[in-house]
Amino acid sequence: MRMETLEMAGTELTSSADGSEKPERSLNFIEQIIEEDRRTGKHGGRVQTRFPPEPNGYLHIGHAKSICLNFGLALKYGGKCNLRFDDTNPTKEDVEYVESIQEDVKWLGFQWDGLYFASDYFKQLYQWAEKLIQDGLAYVDSQSPEEIAKQRGTASEPGTPSPYRDRSVAENLDLFRRMRAGEFADGAHVLRAKIDLAAVHLIMRDPILYRIRHAHHHRTGDKWCIYPMYDYAHGQCDSIEQVTHSICTLEFETHRRLYDWCIEKLGIFPSHQYEFARLNLTYTVMSKRRLLELVQSGDVSGWDDPRMPTLCGLRRRGYTPEALRAFCERIGVARFNSTIEMAWLEDALRDDLNKRAARVMAVLRPLKLVVTNWPAGEVDWIDAVNNPEDESAGSRKVPFSGTLYIEQDDFMENPPKQFFRLSPGREVRLRYGYLVTCTDVVKDADGKVAEVRCTYDPASRGGNSPDGRKVKATMHWVSAEHALPAEVRLYDHLCRQPDPNDVADGVDWKTTLNPNSLEVIPQAWVEPSLKEAAPGSKYQFERLGYFSLDAKVSKPDHMVFNRSVTLRDSWAKAQKKEGGA
Ligand code: ATP
Ligand code: MG
Repeated sequence: MRMETLEMAGTELTSSADGSEKPERSLNFIEQIIEEDRRTGKHGGRVQTRFPPEPNGYLHIGHAKSICLNFGLALKYGGKCNLRFDDTNPTKEDVEYVESIQEDVKWLGFQWDGLYFASDYFKQLYQWAEKLIQDGLAYVDSQSPEEIAKQRGTASEPGTPSPYRDRSVAENLDLFRRMRAGEFADGAHVLRAKIDLAAVHLIMRDPILYRIRHAHHHRTGDKWCIYPMYDYAHGQCDSIEQVTHSICTLEFETHRRLYDWCIEKLGIFPSHQYEFARLNLTYTVMSKRRLLELVQSGDVSGWDDPRMPTLCGLRRRGYTPEALRAFCERIGVARFNSTIEMAWLEDALRDDLNKRAARVMAVLRPLKLVVTNWPAGEVDWIDAVNNPEDESAGSRKVPFSGTLYIEQDDFMENPPKQFFRLSPGREVRLRYGYLVTCTDVVKDADGKVAEVRCTYDPASRGGNSPDGRKVKATMHWVSAEHALPAEVRLYDHLCRQPDPNDVADGVDWKTTLNPNSLEVIPQAWVEPSLKEAAPGSKYQFERLGYFSLDAKVSKPDHMVFNRSVTLRDSWAKAQKKEGGA
């Protein structure tokens, strides 16, 4: 008994994908359904889900929500989750996407049970279509899709029957077989379900099940020239795999009727569909169509541009799987649509990197600081703590010398009252180093400060105030002679307004793109300990934010860092200021 309790507690604590302890939260509505199903013994208590992407683009953060939900439920309830490509639309799909999707799911930390393709089931789907014809539940319509759409009717008026609706079973079968055999051109015929032209839900007014498309499929080649529609394929694929809980986004709610109709009429395994709200985020777009537009227009450098909400973009930006999973957990799963603040996503990354990222010093916009009383030629290698949040991360040595770089922003010749950083006559702490006092400045021909001159207090090594005197500001710095040059890319929101889709009629949503979403600093300076930094490694540049070494373009002789996220949400602050608050 005791053992059992302990074991159960253990399972609870490690049920998340990263194995970390999670505080208890209340069950979401899908978990409630599953727990009820398990209580009543439905499907023998079995839980099986699937993640069903169409391979027509790269996955984005919205897909991460679906992945975490589907794989998360399987993990939580000891079930299975398949990865199934919904590849029924050959003209838009590609192996490039199939590969990237697998990579992204694995990167997020999940492993599928079965790897399937809807195209694996084309033959079975075809045979079931013949069965529907034979049962008088489907017919070949020889009108154009436009004509068919016109006859659909409205919410208050029933649809008009097609003149081909009452074709005989034999004629339907013959035509459908010849459609498959390639005898007809695209659009010449379609197969439609024979349901109810007066149905309240338009989707049930004899929906199209198959269309002719003479297109090369990335997996089945030229074997098929008729392809099933999503609504005909999806439920049956779920059923073949014996999926118990088929979870999709709310826009498929009305489709559920057709999903159920097909399964019922075919008398196959009763998979059931449940809908949840899709993720929307402020200041970005989240549909593959829009993201593809950005890639094709060149507004971004590719699907993996660090400004994109794609998983490969976020990965390059410096997001971690742990942060994305924590974010998905925090936003929860509900049945009403809403938009989540981008700041939540950024917070999830800060929380994760705060615990794990090594602190280093880097100067983005350098201003030379000369320590006039420093012994000529001497270098002091001082201990610097790698991560105050993690003692086991240890420390490293950083070189302090007579010529340093500090941030231009950290010096003001004539400071206002609230400015406590360096200015003439002021003493500040150089982190881990020494206390320095500004004595004077050197200006260039334009009268701009080119160099600040300071004296240091030899008794303040380590940044300690020797006699307890107060020093308000602590600043980061690097030693000019030892620092390594690095390109640094700073990112801001992709779009200027919270909802990029909120534009007047006829206005392109792309006019909402933020022209300042990327700022490149061609030459910043980073401390020498970064010499051996591995691609993709993450750091906190002290006082500046979290940065990741770009795994794609960075080279040992030309380091490129992406700012993953600032230390605080400066955007919210700026917005408040603008609003005059
Ligand atoms: P998009 O509209 O971005 O092109 P999609 O729905 O067409 O996305 P699919 O490849 O068909 O993309 O989606 C695979 C799964 O991911 C589906 O179950 C879909 O409901 C889910 N999904 C897609 N976008 C989101 C989102 N923003 N939030 C939550 N789940 C999503
Ligand atoms: Mg889709």
